[in-house]
Amino acid sequence: MTIIDRILCRPCIFCAIADGSTPTTLIYKDDEIAAFNDINPAAETHILIVPVDHVKTVKTVTTDHITLLEKMRLKGIDLLKERGHDPEESRLGFHVPPFNTVDHLHLHVVGGTMKSNYRKLKYETGRMWYMDLKQLQANLDKKRRLHEGARL
Ligand code: 5GP
Ligand code: ZN
Repeated sequence: MTIIDRILCRPCIFCAIADGSTPTTLIYKDDEIAAFNDINPAAETHILIVPVDHVKTVKTVTTDHITLLEKMRLKGIDLLKERGHDPEESRLGFHVPPFNTVDHLHLHVVGGTMKSNYRKLKYETGRMWYMDLKQLQANLDKKRRLHEGARL
């Protein structure tokens, strides 16, 4: 939810999609995550996977979300394979604030031919606006190990 949404008392669109209160078709749903097609796909396959509970962005993700992120990754890989894409050739990641447009954590699962070079750049690993899922997981793992070390 953005600050404008909060001021205008607008509910979070991805919370609403995940709880099934919009016409958006859910590709997958359980107690923790939901998946649906992006309304404006960047490639042949462009799925968004979100936590059902509102988590704001990659910036508010903590080590408490490690299991949730792994679940999102595994579901993304399943969905890519179902659609005939090689997960290694696909993109799984997040836009980093302020370069995101929806403040409810959403994993972009992008497979197949990209619709334009601009879209390619938007989902390119190593750019300041894009955080690859594996990179985020590695960062969180490192944090977790540091916390565990500090407790010994
Ligand atoms: P971001 O720019 O925050 O990384 O990505 C937001 C994504 O959500 C965009 O790719 C956009 O097309 C998608 N999106 C925004 N609103 C809706 C919606 O109401 N329904 C669906 N299915 N996708 C949406
Ligand atoms: Zn939300």
